[in-house]
Amino acid sequence: LEVTGAPIFTASRKWKGVVLVFHDITEMKHLEEMRKDFVANVSHELKTPITSIRGFSETLLDGAMKDEALLQQFLHIILKESGRLQSLINDLLELSKLEKSNFQLNVTEFNLQDLLKDIVPIVQHAADQKQIELDMSIDGETVVEGDAPRLKQVFVNLMLNAVNYTAEGGKVNVSLSEERENVIILVRDTGIGIPQEEIPRIFERFYRVDRARSRNSGGTGLGLAIVKHIIEAHRGKVEVESEIGKGTTFKVILHKSFTQS
Ligand code: ADP
Repeated sequence: LEVTGAPIFTASRKWKGVVLVFHDITEMKHLEEMRKDFVANVSHELKTPITSIRGFSETLLDGAMKDEALLQQFLHIILKESGRLQSLINDLLELSKLEKSNFQLNVTEFNLQDLLKDIVPIVQHAADQKQIELDMSIDGETVVEGDAPRLKQVFVNLMLNAVNYTAEGGKVNVSLSEERENVIILVRDTGIGIPQEEIPRIFERFYRVDRARSRNSGGTGLGLAIVKHIIEAHRGKVEVESEIGKGTTFKVILHKSFTQS
């Protein structure tokens, strides 16, 4: 609580009393804490790959590069870690754009099935590596209004997560249905699942249920924060249902018409 005060005088300059103003700054403090946490998280996330890139290049320059096998191995690590830096910076830039108060979607009319089918090649490689069956049972032509590249990003993020958090031999299924003025997209996996109590937190920036697993799969911890922002900018909704060891379903609800929503 923050208190400020000011004396009040009558017209003849006699002291009359005092006005006290009480500000509830809990919310402000909370926002300030979140901002500090975010900066700390970003710094930490950036530091990890940089430390690794520096370490491996120094070791190479100190002589390890004479060993052809080590040279190959370390260069691969350096490449992978710079890729991680790049994804992190891309996601941070996207998130900061989405969070600007004057942010505007670039709305056009497009076919949602085509947009979803375009994602398959992006996700197929990751799925093949784990022998995960990617099943997209979507027919028909659903025309929707929205920011196509951003909605594509949403479904890329959800589908890559579905593959990343599913064990070898599992299944990822994408389906689409229409319900009056809405369209519902389900991204289902037969993966590790999310503990019930963690579900509300997974959309927070950098929140991960299992940090090590997220890192190994190249996750930035920002994917779902971006998903939530984009869907909310479209005035849609994302819902999650999950069962540990059984799998997870992300349900995205969008209005077909942007102006009507
Ligand atoms: P990350 O880059 O870590 O995947 P996200 O923001 O995309 O970041 O997801 C946040 C966390 O939510 C993940 O670290 C993971 O713990 C959990 N998660 C997201 N999608 C799934 C899924 N399909 N199955 C299980 N856990 C998931």
